[in-house]
Amino acid sequence: MCYAIPGKIEKIENNLVTVDYFGEKRNAYNELENLFLGDYIYAQGGYVINKISNLEAESILATWKEEFFELQKVDLRLSRIDLEKKGIDKKVSEILDRILENKMVKPDELGYLLAIKNDSDKQLLFKTANFSRSKNFGNSCCVHGIIEISNHCKRNCYYCGISNHNRKIIRYRMDKEEILEAVREAVEVYGFKALVLQSAEDLAYKIEELADIIKEIKKRYPVLIFISFGEIGIEGLRKLYEAGARGLLLRFETSNQKIYEKLHPGYCLDTRLEHLKKAFEIGYLLITGSLIGLPGQTREDLVNDILLAKELNAEMFSFGPFLPSPNTPLENLTAPLPEDIFKILSIARLVDQKKAKILITTAFETLDISARKKGLLSGANSVMLNVTPLKYRQLYSIYPKRAHENEEIDKQINETIYLLRDLGRSPTDLSMG
Ligand code: SAH
Repeated sequence: MCYAIPGKIEKIENNLVTVDYFGEKRNAYNELENLFLGDYIYAQGGYVINKISNLEAESILATWKEEFFELQKVDLRLSRIDLEKKGIDKKVSEILDRILENKMVKPDELGYLLAIKNDSDKQLLFKTANFSRSKNFGNSCCVHGIIEISNHCKRNCYYCGISNHNRKIIRYRMDKEEILEAVREAVEVYGFKALVLQSAEDLAYKIEELADIIKEIKKRYPVLIFISFGEIGIEGLRKLYEAGARGLLLRFETSNQKIYEKLHPGYCLDTRLEHLKKAFEIGYLLITGSLIGLPGQTREDLVNDILLAKELNAEMFSFGPFLPSPNTPLENLTAPLPEDIFKILSIARLVDQKKAKILITTAFETLDISARKKGLLSGANSVMLNVTPLKYRQLYSIYPKRAHENEEIDKQINETIYLLRDLGRSPTDLSMG
């Protein structure tokens, strides 16, 4: 099983290498020693992850070659905008044309797209986003894994099922050995090349311990590590980067300061944004975004969320629905409509056509069983599989009945690979710089 295609080193210039994938050239940042022209490597998120032998690479490439071009054809077919213009709002089509021509589009025009109701307008929006995804990112789709290492939390986020006001759940915390074993399984058994380590804001993990775990992972396994431990402070970010983490998953949750402060008493949006900005300066790849459907959120807020995620230089956008969770202050609210999330993903794709990959979140899959397929056809190009050990997975209950919470990793992988094939996508991370 593999989640990236090996590429051949064609050029080396200091730490930057050019990699060839069946004729497509990509740049990647190299931190390995002893890398030479002609070597085969795996890259993720623009980083060289590891080198593999020519023999192994050539045999993997031989099995991929035919399929690679076949998949591309399927994707090209599925990403055509083959709609009749009849019945489509002129303003919608005019805004979308301007976006594709990279001309100025105002926030209120993005709001107009967000407000569309008519089916053919929606189809045009989704198809235009899918077209842009295919044109600018090709048929690659990121497949990352996530391990949720603890649900102990010091925070009191109003929407979250594992925040500290919920006294009714069982808490767990994985220790170093358990984390290393989960990473080993994900990398060695299942072939993941990029993993997110996530936890609630658990005071029991000291930064030094987390750094020690990350160092050990990097020593043992070729994998790109994203951290998602909440607001660990700028020094904390620095230390974990030094230890070998290269990505940060931290949603700003909402760009509306008032809503942020209402839902996170005692915390402020600026501190969160400061983490994201400093992390980018340190060199982290950022995955960020917001919750859709929070109380009080307006269309304007949602447009601002997209613009903020772009402004923060996100490598990947993570926008997903708010889902009401029992025993939280927001338990009696209702979730947003799936079509609102599809619209957000499409508009986000069109606002940032060149850089950010777009994730289909588990929350979205929980809200709509066809979210992954339809989302991948509406501009998204990334999925994250949950590789938390099954005995803990259900306990990370940020909202109820999470998609895949009881599914063996094998099953998730098979379903993903099957879906990606169906849609003409390669499970690769070719879309870097
Ligand atoms: N401590 C980490 C991880 C938090 S959990 C951090 O702060 O980044 C990961 C994400 O789950 C949160 O960022 C939040 O956006 C999402 N989440 C929490 N409760 C949710 C709910 N009820 N519905 C949907 N998503 C939720």
